[in-house]
Amino acid sequence: MIKVNNLSKEFHEQGTSNELLAVDHVDFTIQNGSFCALVGESGSGKSTLAQLMCGLLVPSSGEVLFEGKNISLCRGKQKQVLRSKIQLILQDGKGAMDPRFTVYQIIAEPIRNFRKLSKKEEEREINDLLTMMEPPEEIKLRKAHELSGGQQKRVCIARALAAQPDVLIFDEAVSGLDVLVRKHILDLLKRLHQERKMTCFFITHDLDVALYLADRVMVMRCGKIIEDRTFHGSTDCFTHPYTKLLLHSIA
Ligand code: ATP
Ligand code: MG
Repeated sequence: MIKVNNLSKEFHEQGTSNELLAVDHVDFTIQNGSFCALVGESGSGKSTLAQLMCGLLVPSSGEVLFEGKNISLCRGKQKQVLRSKIQLILQDGKGAMDPRFTVYQIIAEPIRNFRKLSKKEEEREINDLLTMMEPPEEIKLRKAHELSGGQQKRVCIARALAAQPDVLIFDEAVSGLDVLVRKHILDLLKRLHQERKMTCFFITHDLDVALYLADRVMVMRCGKIIEDRTFHGSTDCFTHPYTKLLLHSIA
């Protein structure tokens, strides 16, 4: 379970004396095994929130608890383990992948860091992950910079799964992909969530993608969560005028 308590993050605006409240006193709880989507326009604070939730940013105030532990107070080995349990997949996968490494080495890294597998088991696991992602056969020995955007995205997901996380956070993970690759990845996420009971937190600009995937939809605006609903297939549950505006734009 992830518990976000009165969480805020302030940034100093470069070249001015202004402070910008990117995340503004946010509260919510994510139950294990749920699939939450977070929607909101550009600059609303989604990526900042995602980075706070996995400990990549330190809050200005408030806290994020993972299984009862305050993420920003974890140090050393505990922090490493926590990082493996909450995996963040970014829009631009390149950042997470060392360009000198092959796809095989990139996926092997979290297995070697966090799990004790024999060479044979490691090879089987990597092959299974790659088979699941269905990229072209030959990419295994390619380097990260030699991959297309869609291939990079799949390798990033495979790498995140190799750590056997409890929580996957996707920050705009399917933007900019062609519709077929996008559909393939979304269906794969749905399947992974159902089969592995993994907790998923999916950030997107697209409310329609959120509605396709999630059983709970949160809407963020100007650093605040303005709507947070369990979603059972009918958009009648949404009441905030801003969400209705978003809904209108996809109708
Ligand atoms: P997008 O949909 O475009 O990715 P977002 O909802 O993810 O947007 P954030 O990246 O969280 O938005 O940014 C929220 C606000 O915080 C923006 O105004 C942004 O300019 C600001 N911000 C983000 N990171 C920093 C930083 N490191 N330093 C200063 N300001 C920042
Ligand atoms: Mg963002």
